[in-house]
Amino acid sequence: MSDKTLKRRDSNLKQWQDGLSELLASGMQDFEEKLFCFLCDHNDLVSIDKFKNLLEETGLRETDFRLKETMTKFRVVLERQLRDENELRGSVDKETFTDCVSDNLVVISKALTSQFVVPEFKTFTDFIDNIYDKCKDNFNGQPAQYIPQLARVSPKHWGVSVCTIDGQRYDLGDTDTPFCLQSVVKPLNYAMTLNDLSPEVVHKYVGQEPSGQSFNELTLDYQHKPHNPMINAGAIVTASLLKKGLVIADRFDYAMDQLRRFAGGEHVAFNNSVYLSERATADRNFALGYYMRENHCFPKEADLVETLEFYFQLCSIEVTAQSGAVIAATLANGGICPTTGDRVLDSDAVRNTLSLMHSCGMYDYSGQFAFKVGLPAKSGVAGGVLLVIPNLMGIFTWSPPLDQWGNSSRGVQFCEELVANFNFHNYDNLKHTSTKYDPRGRAVESKAQDVVNLLFSAYNGDVTAMRRYALLGMDMSLADYDGRTALHLGAAEGHESIVRFLLEKCGVPSHLKDRWGFTAYDDALRFKHSHVAELLKEYMKNNPDSSSKSVDEVTKYMKQVKTEN
Ligand code: GLN
Repeated sequence: MSDKTLKRRDSNLKQWQDGLSELLASGMQDFEEKLFCFLCDHNDLVSIDKFKNLLEETGLRETDFRLKETMTKFRVVLERQLRDENELRGSVDKETFTDCVSDNLVVISKALTSQFVVPEFKTFTDFIDNIYDKCKDNFNGQPAQYIPQLARVSPKHWGVSVCTIDGQRYDLGDTDTPFCLQSVVKPLNYAMTLNDLSPEVVHKYVGQEPSGQSFNELTLDYQHKPHNPMINAGAIVTASLLKKGLVIADRFDYAMDQLRRFAGGEHVAFNNSVYLSERATADRNFALGYYMRENHCFPKEADLVETLEFYFQLCSIEVTAQSGAVIAATLANGGICPTTGDRVLDSDAVRNTLSLMHSCGMYDYSGQFAFKVGLPAKSGVAGGVLLVIPNLMGIFTWSPPLDQWGNSSRGVQFCEELVANFNFHNYDNLKHTSTKYDPRGRAVESKAQDVVNLLFSAYNGDVTAMRRYALLGMDMSLADYDGRTALHLGAAEGHESIVRFLLEKCGVPSHLKDRWGFTAYDDALRFKHSHVAELLKEYMKNNPDSSSKSVDEVTKYMKQVKTEN
């Protein structure tokens, strides 16, 4: 996908956002009115559909809780319009519009002034479309066979859902078909337990090390504890700790209620047939349970069969990719559900959970996954993968065929492709990775920082720093608000080495004028640096082509070079 296509598709929304931001710069007062003036047509009406489409392009869903009052009011207006023949259809006047949006202004203004964490959401989701299609051609693996109910699921399902920490949503494919969390419940169960008890208490019973063995291996660590809460042994022990003072029915209710809060009230249900199927074929988990009881792994009051059944029930809790993405986003957002604002987990519990997902979340592929993808994730045998990009978004993928490690083949491929496109790997350098796309909304900020750094180095005559910026692919012809470039500053300060480097090594245009109409040559003359003025004059004489390039052309060229690399 070319940069151009992406820009074109976003440009409409971007225009609105830029225009609106400018309008709002004069203050938040009367936001509704300003918004109306901005959106209305020549009849002084705003089309409800057009308004909804704009919001949707920012990633906001019509069904978002934060838009509830506005959407309800729009619905009432539309119904009234349908009943009354003389009424307008689908459009509203200023008074009605301001009344409809007034209750949900915070989220509406945030969306329409590019304040969301992924401001160019369409650009981002175009990449997701591409990755989704690529993975669709992956037919490796088959659905889990050891639980009959899972073996019967169609291998064709493929869904991807995204939810950012600002509640921007995107769904592709089978995202509203329910399936069981299976092992994806393990980090959630661990997080809930940590939230309730302290890590010191929980880790008296379970370790923090990758086991290096398969998820249901009959093994304990050197202290006779399960290796970590992300494998069966550790998850069974963690299940025995979750609200252990309550009766089992209340413990199950507690888990369901919490998970529903993680998911912002979206689909969380219980699949009884998977539970029965799993319980009937659970020899290995029973063996693990007895082995652990023999090794005093459980708290004293725990009943083994009840604990195992509770664990099977937790595995049989259903989500959809959509509700799963909200759960992932709650983890990405430090424990606050982005669509409801509900604080479900304290941030330490989330941090500890993400740490263990990072090192142990993908069975014995965890090391390779941490190496290649560098993000916390958890997979389950029903084909789900919950992926967290901390402080940015949650992603949930679902495709039942599993690879040799028991992870969803397409899910793993998706994660790997994702970090090949975006700088999401934990160790990707956020500032200087020029070949990867960063959808986070700080493009403008970082460009401003680039200019400051560049101009300061030129002013100080620091050629080493300039060389570093050039090697990192920085646009060396960047200008500040006044049109001052590094070349202007180098010339004005008489730094011959800087001027030479910029002209001869970086090929920056030499004729650029600042807002007062001065070129670098004018500056060298004005500040009496004749050797530099001479150098510039000579260069311009010998390179008429380069000197006539406009800033835009050079910037375009630099971008092209960057994408080609
Ligand atoms: N129900 C499964 C089990 O305990 C969960 C395991 C998984 O998803 N890997 O066998």
